[in-house]
Amino acid sequence: MSNSMRQAAIAAIVSTKHKLDHINFKDGHIKELFGQDVFSEPVQRERLPKPVFKALQKTIKQGATLDPAIADAVATAMKDWAIEKGATHFTHMFQPMTGLTAEKHDSFLQPSEPGQALLEFSGKELVRGEPDASSFPSGGIRATFEARGYTAWDPTSPAFIMENPNGATLVIPTAFVSWTGEALDKKTPLLRSMEALSKQALRIIKLFGNHDAKKVFTTVGPEQEYFLIDKNFYFGRLDLQATGRTLFGCPPPKGQEMEDQYFGAIPERVLAYMADVESQLFQLGVPIKTRHNEVAPSQYELAPIFEDSNLGTDHQMLTMELLRRTATKYGLVCLLHEKPFAGINGSGKHNNWSMSTDAGENLLDPGDTPEHNVQFLVFCTAVIRAVNKYAKLLRVSVASAANDHRLGANEAPPAIISIFLGDQLQEIVDHLADSGSAKSTKSRGFMDEIGVNVLPRLPKDAGDRNRTSPFAFTGNKFEFRAVGSSFSIAGANTVLNTIVAESIDVIATNLEKARAEGKDLTKAIGDLLPGLLKENRRVLFLGDNYTAEWHAEAEKRGLPNLRNTPEALPAILEKESIELFTKYKVYSERELNSRFTILCESYVKTVSIEGRCAVVMATTMILPAALRYQTEVAQSVQALTLAGVKAPARQTALLKKLTETIDSLQETTEKLDHAVNHEAKGSLLDHAKYARDHVVTALVEVRKHADALETMVADDLWPLPTYREMLFIK
Ligand code: ADP
Ligand code: MG
Repeated sequence: MSNSMRQAAIAAIVSTKHKLDHINFKDGHIKELFGQDVFSEPVQRERLPKPVFKALQKTIKQGATLDPAIADAVATAMKDWAIEKGATHFTHMFQPMTGLTAEKHDSFLQPSEPGQALLEFSGKELVRGEPDASSFPSGGIRATFEARGYTAWDPTSPAFIMENPNGATLVIPTAFVSWTGEALDKKTPLLRSMEALSKQALRIIKLFGNHDAKKVFTTVGPEQEYFLIDKNFYFGRLDLQATGRTLFGCPPPKGQEMEDQYFGAIPERVLAYMADVESQLFQLGVPIKTRHNEVAPSQYELAPIFEDSNLGTDHQMLTMELLRRTATKYGLVCLLHEKPFAGINGSGKHNNWSMSTDAGENLLDPGDTPEHNVQFLVFCTAVIRAVNKYAKLLRVSVASAANDHRLGANEAPPAIISIFLGDQLQEIVDHLADSGSAKSTKSRGFMDEIGVNVLPRLPKDAGDRNRTSPFAFTGNKFEFRAVGSSFSIAGANTVLNTIVAESIDVIATNLEKARAEGKDLTKAIGDLLPGLLKENRRVLFLGDNYTAEWHAEAEKRGLPNLRNTPEALPAILEKESIELFTKYKVYSERELNSRFTILCESYVKTVSIEGRCAVVMATTMILPAALRYQTEVAQSVQALTLAGVKAPARQTALLKKLTETIDSLQETTEKLDHAVNHEAKGSLLDHAKYARDHVVTALVEVRKHADALETMVADDLWPLPTYREMLFIK
């Protein structure tokens, strides 16, 4: 009895001719395409009465409170524009705490006289929606009796048209809050954190004489890694469908060791897919810039040009959505899971982050002049202090059951948060910290007195790279590399913005005081930075973060090493975290509690689903195949005996090994089944710990025996598409 499903999948893949030419950039060049479906600034200028346009821009660019009186005019212009583009519906898109986007569509139709209808869209409908949406996780914020949730228009992220084969929808980015004003989403805290950082950063640049800037934006450029596999394989794997990752599968004979995939030629079908995704993203104004093959087989990456963090986050959500959605058109499935395949690289999302004034000055760009260098050093010190002081919060911002498979393995940054500055910047920082004042170093002789023609021109392009560091300075921005590929980047950036805002606040307070006392600014900075750097330098590390030596060294330095999600989550509710987030009004204590609850629950659910899925697969797919093969081998041995030939020892040994492995598979599956169905006692966190210590570990055991069987059982009996097939048959 051969396994027809697997063979059928391969046959289908080999014989299917996919239509690859969906996009034609000759007819619509990207220049015209870009932003075509966005209610962008030029569209606003063209279609809005001048005072309305000005008021709206003031809100967008300077964070001025929105004048409700302009909403009707904006709504009408938006509606007319959308209808011209074929839209029949509008939706408030929001980002609930599931980490996905959510939308509920309403048509523009309003019945007027009997049998007639008007197309309406009022300012009220633009500004506020009430999607109910009470089934989203709220972590206790929304008890059912107060289940009302509102969406609120975010004018800083422009509305756009989302097309589908049979129509189009006007999509309005919104925040999602409870009727008591508590954030039920990921956008609201992000916006609050951006505001907090802006307020603090403005204080510093004012000290440096910049009085023009009205706002400081944080900027983000997320690099997205993902896998693509043929959908025929996907539908042959219950684990991929139910959990996003393979729970079983032994390594292919050839993995990524030849490193022949990285930056290699992109297969035709994949390239066609990428172009299609990009074309759609261009229309939505998402500035995708790069694409390439990643390290693992069938792994790819795309990255946009950076934007302000709010827009960049919205665009990242769209990017994930379109990556997923477009794949089916090409007979592919896009896997955004952090670790879809064991034994080869997982996927992350490198979160490139910086701060910029509304005039576009990048505050982490060392700049060409010493004055800029000093301002840069102030901001850089703020980041160093923030990351050291709040390393646990950064860690928890990237914690999930899926990312646990990645952080700490020898391919992704470890769970220990440290900063890589690069040799030159590290030397400058070391010198500042060591010498206390800014005397010149013997080796390079560059620092007589801070700020006066003394600092070297800092490298614009940091020549050295360190791929093992979770948080690396890369010339004019920091790259937070521990974010998982399936994550919304909102959480990580909310934390990053808030912790840096706090550090800047501390520095600004000190410097303002010194200035008020008549101290020279450079002197004040020279007095302040060395101490701060000394206090926080333990977080700086230039070496290989994957080594055991670093783990030992980090422990000596007292750096936290929160190895998995249940270890990381309590950081959310520590006193220091609550004080931080409430002080800058990013999360209230209740909001923090709700996040903690949701993350605990989500961890337990994810692990339980995986456990149940593994039990089903082991019991109904792997075990039957193994038993069939065991029968074949047993019959073959028996046949020899009947024929009067003594079965060779290797054949009886094979039978014995099969029997034993099958027995172990059953035994461990029973254990897993028990663990999954066991109702743990205690708090939510106890449930999470139980899941980690009993379900995750039992699953590893089951997998060990299942994968061993994959290497023994006749290939024609093996029921699951294998790694060598999924990753290499394209
Ligand atoms: P790499 O060599 O790390 O790939 P790139 O220059 O290609 O460096 O940048 C990677 C990502 O970093 C891109 O998305 C890019 O837009 C983003 N990036 C560049 N400058 C900034 C900045 N100032 N703030 C945030 N992201 C940035
Ligand atoms: Mg990369």
